[in-house]
Amino acid sequence: MKTRNVRGPTDLAPKICGGIITILVGKAEKRKEFYVHEDLLRSCSPYFDAALGKDWKEAGTRTISLYCDDPEAFQIYTQWLYSGKVWSASRTHDARPLSELLRMADERNLLAKAYCLGDKFLDHLFKDCIIDAILECFKVKDENKKVYLFGKRQVDFIWANTTCNAPIRRLILEQYAYRGRVSWDYDIHCKEFLVDLLREMYQTRIHPGRKALDSDGNTCKYHHHAKDQPCNKRIEEQAD
Ligand SMILES: [Zn+2]
Repeated sequence: MKTRNVRGPTDLAPKICGGIITILVGKAEKRKEFYVHEDLLRSCSPYFDAALGKDWKEAGTRTISLYCDDPEAFQIYTQWLYSGKVWSASRTHDARPLSELLRMADERNLLAKAYCLGDKFLDHLFKDCIIDAILECFKVKDENKKVYLFGKRQVDFIWANTTCNAPIRRLILEQYAYRGRVSWDYDIHCKEFLVDLLREMYQTRIHPGRKALDSDGNTCKYHHHAKDQPCNKRIEEQAD
């Protein structure tokens, strides 16, 4: 049985020093307060680094308000900041009954929101980890060996909250182009997504040998990092 190494290199350790920043997330009754180390926030996110810089009022109040964002998705972000893991899954990866898979729709919503939060915070390493979590989530099968990918709700959210060249859009377009079925309901989707999908379908016709999703084991094509930059998977292996 493979055991996980407990030692990690000091330069990859979370930066848990400096003051504590209060972050208020969500609207009215759903609002939650989070307390995060300033050094950790600023080292991971250019957005928070700028917000806590001397020119912004938040630097004086030590409080940041994110009233339009989702507290559950922000919790995923803070947990990731401190642990390097995306804590969104159920405990088992065995075949699931349908009721459990319906609950997993909540996980897919959460991961879609978490990705867009990472986009807003300009935390590209977090976004790459969310991509890997999404691909893991897609591998879960029900009793009939059926897998569940992103549906209308997640697609709509991502198309409304990311730019046209966001890597997560590529992942979803390939998902639909290679695994879509004639029986699926396409007229529920927004026009922008359908036009992008049409272009993707033409690409699959022009390049019939292209591999879908991570079937070739290469998830880096959906990551933000450049080809010559280290992947979060390799960073994790270094730490293990
Ligand atoms: Zn990568």
